[in-house]
Amino acid sequence: MKRFLATYKTLRTRLQGKRCNKTFWSILFLAVFLSCHFFLDVGLFFDAGLDPTSKEKQKAFAAKDEQADSALRNEAPSPQEDSAPRRVEKTLSVSSGDTLMGLLVRAGLARIEAHSVISSLEKVFNPRRLREGHEICLTLTDLPEKKNSLHRLNLKLDIAREVQVERCDENGFISREIVHELETRPVRVQGQIESNLYDSALGAGVPLEVLVQMIRAYSFDIDFQRDIQTGDEFSAMYEEESNRRDGVARAGALLYSCLTTGGRSVAVYRYETMDGQVDFFDSRGKSIGKTLMLTPIDGARLTSRFGNRRHPILGYSRMHRGLDFAAPIGTPIMAAGDGIVQFAARKGDYGKYIRIRHPNEYHTVYAHLSRFASGVRRGVRVKQGQTIGFVGSTGLSTGPHLHYEVHHRGKHLNPAKMASPPSRTLKGEELERFMIAKKDLESLFASLQGRDRLALVDEER
Ligand SMILES: [Zn+2]
Repeated sequence: MKRFLATYKTLRTRLQGKRCNKTFWSILFLAVFLSCHFFLDVGLFFDAGLDPTSKEKQKAFAAKDEQADSALRNEAPSPQEDSAPRRVEKTLSVSSGDTLMGLLVRAGLARIEAHSVISSLEKVFNPRRLREGHEICLTLTDLPEKKNSLHRLNLKLDIAREVQVERCDENGFISREIVHELETRPVRVQGQIESNLYDSALGAGVPLEVLVQMIRAYSFDIDFQRDIQTGDEFSAMYEEESNRRDGVARAGALLYSCLTTGGRSVAVYRYETMDGQVDFFDSRGKSIGKTLMLTPIDGARLTSRFGNRRHPILGYSRMHRGLDFAAPIGTPIMAAGDGIVQFAARKGDYGKYIRIRHPNEYHTVYAHLSRFASGVRRGVRVKQGQTIGFVGSTGLSTGPHLHYEVHHRGKHLNPAKMASPPSRTLKGEELERFMIAKKDLESLFASLQGRDRLALVDEER
């Protein structure tokens, strides 16, 4: 037994500080197997009284140990590994600035091989479209003449699509695009608002993509600063798409939501009209969210209203022609409505400044930004709720905040008192169709009772 323990200890010492890869474990197993065999043999000899106390035997055992030890030192492959080549999987995450060539070479591929992998891939995917966050899985083989030879590469583009490059002969690769079938299911979430909708909804498991749709849907009906109080309630139902193979899911369209503030419930329903327009409608079939947002920023505090006030820097009283929202630097600012960027640059006291032209001669202005969102520049079309820039304190400003103005036909409006422009109201056959769709959404929502996201998470705990 001593000998066995000694062998085991030696092996353990050798394994420590090294990566316990497959080879090591195979060798450990081999060595233990040999030692056990040795004991069995010795035991049998002793039991049978046949042991000739032979020094030969001991020499033979020593030789066996010697073999095991030398195997360890040289990391020689075990016999099984000769027949099947060793495969290693590596997962690479694409960071900004990475090129496919750079990634493959860093993963250990020879430059010439990386080159032929990329030219094969190019038949189904343009490597310039490689983006931060993409994931690449490599399966590498160690061949006797070449280390880190590529067996297969999988590039996951999103939950539904991936491209694969696979070795087909010694120097050739074949590429194909794989499209996974997606399963769509409705998900119900609900909760109470503690401080603001943003934190409470995320805390209840509402995905950010869905929350943005909720904020857009309510942006003209509800003033997120004044209307929402602790204890108010929200609920939502949205589509979740998942990949059947590995179950990875992504949030899709918001189908229904209800916000109860101060005893008043406002429900919105996603509905596709007969002419193919998808929009949110209230319970009576009136479209919402097509007007300008009262609050083009979330999680902010209104610090200065529209009207006369003493200017904090200039020291004298002057008209404040907008609303100020205090928020930390970097808080995203949304376009208050669909429109075209007329101006996105520095503008005197306004600092970094954006002006958007909306339909019906409306304009909105956003000032003191720390930076603009990528792609936001003069002439670019933006959608309501789209992030156009980030809160800062540029220009004449006492601290990080957004200065927001609404103009109509060249006059400054008080955004808090804007009358809502007319929106679409469904009538006749369209209204009947909507009422059926609305009932369907309500019963689907009711059928998911007790199966909402938070309840499921609690069950898992
Ligand atoms: Zn201001």
